Amino acid sequence: MRMAGWVLVGLCAAGLAAGLARGEEGKWTPQQLLQFDPAWLKQQGLEVPVSRLWNPARGTGLLAATVSTGGCSGGFVTATGLFLTNHHCLFGIVQEHSRPGRDLITDGFVAQTREQELPGKTMRITVPHRFTDVTTAVQAAAAGRASDLEASKAVEAKQKALVAECEKAPGMRCNVAVFDGGLQYVLVESLELTDIRLVYAPPRAIGEFGGEPDNFRWPRHTGDFAMARAYKDGKPYQPEFYFPIAGTGVKAGDFVMVMGYPGRTMRSMTSAEMANERDYRFGLRGEVYGEWIRLLEETTKGNAQGTIAVAATLKTLNNNHTNAQGQLAGLARGHIIEKQKAADDAVVAWAAKQAASAKALGAKQELDRLAAERRAVATRDFLFQAIRPGAVALRVATSLVRLAAERAKADAERDPEYMERQWKALRNTMEREQQSFFRPADEAMLAHWLARAGKLGGGERIAAVAGKSRADVAAWYEATKVTELAERLKMFDETTEQLRARKDPMLELAFALEPELRQWQKDTQTYDGAVARLRPEWRRAVIAHAGKPVAPDANSTLRVSIAHVKGYVPRDGVVYTPQTTLAGMIEKHTGEDPFEVPGFILEAAKKTSAEKVPLDFLSDADTTGGNSGSPVINGRGELVGLNFDRVWENVANDFGYNPDVARNVSVDMRFFVWLLRDVQHADNILGELGVR
Ligand code: ASP
Repeated sequence: MRMAGWVLVGLCAAGLAAGLARGEEGKWTPQQLLQFDPAWLKQQGLEVPVSRLWNPARGTGLLAATVSTGGCSGGFVTATGLFLTNHHCLFGIVQEHSRPGRDLITDGFVAQTREQELPGKTMRITVPHRFTDVTTAVQAAAAGRASDLEASKAVEAKQKALVAECEKAPGMRCNVAVFDGGLQYVLVESLELTDIRLVYAPPRAIGEFGGEPDNFRWPRHTGDFAMARAYKDGKPYQPEFYFPIAGTGVKAGDFVMVMGYPGRTMRSMTSAEMANERDYRFGLRGEVYGEWIRLLEETTKGNAQGTIAVAATLKTLNNNHTNAQGQLAGLARGHIIEKQKAADDAVVAWAAKQAASAKALGAKQELDRLAAERRAVATRDFLFQAIRPGAVALRVATSLVRLAAERAKADAERDPEYMERQWKALRNTMEREQQSFFRPADEAMLAHWLARAGKLGGGERIAAVAGKSRADVAAWYEATKVTELAERLKMFDETTEQLRARKDPMLELAFALEPELRQWQKDTQTYDGAVARLRPEWRRAVIAHAGKPVAPDANSTLRVSIAHVKGYVPRDGVVYTPQTTLAGMIEKHTGEDPFEVPGFILEAAKKTSAEKVPLDFLSDADTTGGNSGSPVINGRGELVGLNFDRVWENVANDFGYNPDVARNVSVDMRFFVWLLRDVQHADNILGELGVR
């Protein structure tokens, strides 16, 4: 991994740690990390030289061992391509290979040999290779355009050109990451590995112990880990850097570092924008996803095949639903939006006195005006977005219709998601969908979406769904072929005319929706163009006002958080200690899902001092969704844990950081070693990991 031409916006490069206390808020970019004062890092607890994390002369280091699964994070743990991440991150492969009679979800999986490893059809990981600041080039492309839509299109064209140039290198996957709405643009070049095979997964009762009741909660007793191997050209991929599993564990007060790919946070938003997120993104998720969860459970109850088919979808919906509840509760309890309003006002008052910040005031006003405009169509926008996590039939139908239209264009003119570089992955997804399709569940979800969408009026009206009924939905499922794998794969290669000629009712619904989806996409682009023009002005003032290093919002790029193992006070009169043990897991055992400890663990626990087997631990790392599976390393660069969650009081940290409750939850590698060595006797795996 190389870092070329980095500029730190709004930060002075020298003595970057000045003004920072212990740990503290910040999902730091690798570049920010490298500019921290080495003495400060040492004082935090980093024992290896920073050059071990990243050696500028060689252009690589431990940071390059942190991989993205495109939604989760992971870390290489051997030179033979093995990487560890969370059980919930590899759950898709586990589900893909499960069926009634061979239920890997319930039983878990251990590959005894390389031949037994299980490939994931849509699974891919990226290994970071090079970061290049391209802000000047991208902003120059947007400058002087007649409208925000034109500017946005110019940015997209520039991004496509940069990516095309970058991907000339074989095996490389590139993207232009946008930081804080356009404050900075970075070309990220990664090695893409598409042959990923499952090596180990614990039974769900361990990997997901505590289920939804314990999700985003402490005290926690979940063994949320799983392992896969990356292959390149049919052979195990050999990373130069990996995280050896630590021989010793962690204790309260110890230094840890969390490296990963946090997905999306909202801290750079104004209070008006935050209120939109609260009311529409999270408010509606709570409502709509809550109903979908109920429908999926109801329609698959007592049906083994249906239960397996919807397992991964249900898990994601449940997680997003619980997360939404946590965001709403945290925003209210922490008065986060009210505090943001006060912070915005303070910057406005300050900027009014700074000649250099004059533009920031106008930008803030315009961002607020745009936020008000967006509220008027926010429910419709949510429902359009919800096509993705919703019913398989509508998702694939809209995707097929879009693909056919885009294929007819020149590649550089295509919607970025449908460019040729995406086709292979799209096709794999089309194939993979079948394993998650269960008609009664799908039909119920689509009917619910349609009823909700049909109710919209005024400027939010969706013409394509007007007047459609539950009976229509049933008839569509009866007649459609998009839910049949072989037909769907044929459709994948068809033109718009061919698709239309099929007169397939699900495709017809997608065709009817398409103009409205296109208009929505255009409106979004226009908005993004405006934000790219306005946000940088506003953020520069915010950062100047802060007078200390400010990490950009999460955007699925590599970040590092500096932390310590630490408990917290969740509410008046209660102190949470930072570590749990196997004894606590046994104590929670009720015999009923999700608190059912498998019999073999109960037996093994009897033969050991369960209170001496550490299970999960807390630290004050600044993390979010996407950090799942992040390697948690000690001061020597050894793996002590895998991040998998945050605590309830900290879910709304996506909007605002509160050091009192900023705690992430990691599974302790000592539990992993105990389980594989003393209980499952997975000697082949441990031998390869160098664990005795
Ligand atoms: N468990 C989380 C996730 O869903 C991680 C987090 O939100 O902190 O990705």
